[in-house]
Amino acid sequence: MTSPTTADEWRALADSLTLPHQAFINGQYVDALSGATFACESPLDGRKLADVASCQEEDAHQAVGAAREAFETGVWRDLPPAKRKKILLRFADLIKANRDELALLETLDMGKPIRFSQAVDIPGAAQTLSWTAEAIDKVYGEIAPTANNQIGMITREPMGVVACIVPWNFPLLMASWKFAPALAAGNSVILKPSEKSPLSALRIAELAQQAGIPDGVFNVLPGFGSSVGRALALHPDVDCLAFTGSTATAKQLLVYSGESNMKRVWLEAGGKSPNIVFADAPDLDKAARAAAQAIAFNQGQVCTAGTRLLVESSIHDEFTEKVKQALQKWQPGDPLDPATTFGAIVDQQQFSKVLDYIATAQQEGAQLTTGGQAVKPESGGYFAQPAIFTGVKNAMRLAREEVFGPVLAVISFDTPEEAVALANDSIYGLAAAVWTSDINKAHKTAKALRAGSVWINNYDGGDMTAPFGGFKQSGHGRDKSLHAFDKYTEIKATWLTLN
Ligand code: NAD
Repeated sequence: MTSPTTADEWRALADSLTLPHQAFINGQYVDALSGATFACESPLDGRKLADVASCQEEDAHQAVGAAREAFETGVWRDLPPAKRKKILLRFADLIKANRDELALLETLDMGKPIRFSQAVDIPGAAQTLSWTAEAIDKVYGEIAPTANNQIGMITREPMGVVACIVPWNFPLLMASWKFAPALAAGNSVILKPSEKSPLSALRIAELAQQAGIPDGVFNVLPGFGSSVGRALALHPDVDCLAFTGSTATAKQLLVYSGESNMKRVWLEAGGKSPNIVFADAPDLDKAARAAAQAIAFNQGQVCTAGTRLLVESSIHDEFTEKVKQALQKWQPGDPLDPATTFGAIVDQQQFSKVLDYIATAQQEGAQLTTGGQAVKPESGGYFAQPAIFTGVKNAMRLAREEVFGPVLAVISFDTPEEAVALANDSIYGLAAAVWTSDINKAHKTAKALRAGSVWINNYDGGDMTAPFGGFKQSGHGRDKSLHAFDKYTEIKATWLTLN
């Protein structure tokens, strides 16, 4: 079947879909035990897409019970690694085979342009699964350097029941960064998608089953953070909580862990990433295009968005103008039109938050250089132009707080030391970029930056081979790469003394 190529064809496909709306527990789609639902609305036009099961504590309890039982019986963890690998590769293939439908669910549900759902989110989730699955039968344990009459074996074991609580900005991709290594390591998983974007997670539950993942091993619980999310985080029989979301929620999860069973908690949280452009950058046009993309991709709703653009003062005006020009390619359009690069903000709440930050930045004395207006009101959806502010001081709210929207703060600096000091003057430490032709300056700056990812002469580089995660209040633990297995396995030392 060929993919739709026009907005009308995507709309026709949307009209033909039966949208998933029930929770998936122990291999079955079920309503919430209370019968409660919540309205899942599209930011494209405010239209209700589905009434989705609103899971609560009792549903969490059911899912945890099923996941525990599957773990204890060993139907998944005791499979030979090569067999688990085969099933997960099949799961990845099924995601690829259903790419158009899954991409459409992402776009309808959270507003991102279909071209990116189709080319980035869904293939990215499938690639995460296949890369991780391929690793299963290639990761070895260790033998300790012991005396001759002893054998010390260091092995990894799955943890048990892993709850994955994820956000809405890349619904399936962020989820896959958690559930793929958790499943690969032999755990049972309960996936809690964001209440703002539950559809793709619900749809892949049946693909997991079709691929051969045993009942109870992969469960999906839609609902609110304050109810089902909290219930999972406090549950005494959840062994590990893998979270991506805001820093505020991340802190709360640490409390829940301490109040319950001291479950492992892995946090991937917010950011306020500095993008440092020195006057000797190798290609200012390329750097400007990257800076525009770093604030506009996914409507700025990216944890690593380059929200603080630190520009050497000698090129400040010239470079800001280049970024402004480059932003012309990132203007709001119909997310279902394959030509659109900039879609809708996820919902009314986030839309208001973005507009509030724009108003606050102006009150604080920053200059709105371009954009920042709400547009397309006739659509009924949530559309705003990307905005650039100049004259920003690092003490302003716009430079300190995560907007999670397309609002760029331009800050000028004079020396490399000042750039590093400004960059590190943040509670966050997720990512940072440096643009310079001077290899010494590049290395020294990269080393001084307190961030989990540093990009030199690019923005947002990396693939499955490199770990991803934050310093400071951007979290801890690493998604992607073999380091991801560290989060979902316990290390056991078995010591044998020979006669
Ligand atoms: P959020 O913290 O509001 O919600 C994230 C998830 O946590 C949702 O599923 C939500 O229902 C759940 N939740 C909320 N309160 C909870 C509670 N008390 N107990 C248990 N679960 C709860 O974040 P969001 O608005 O969905 O996502 C945006 C945030 O995610 C931004 O801060 C962004 O930087 C961050 N993010 C980080 C990364 C990363 O890898 N570091 C990647 C993507 C997004």
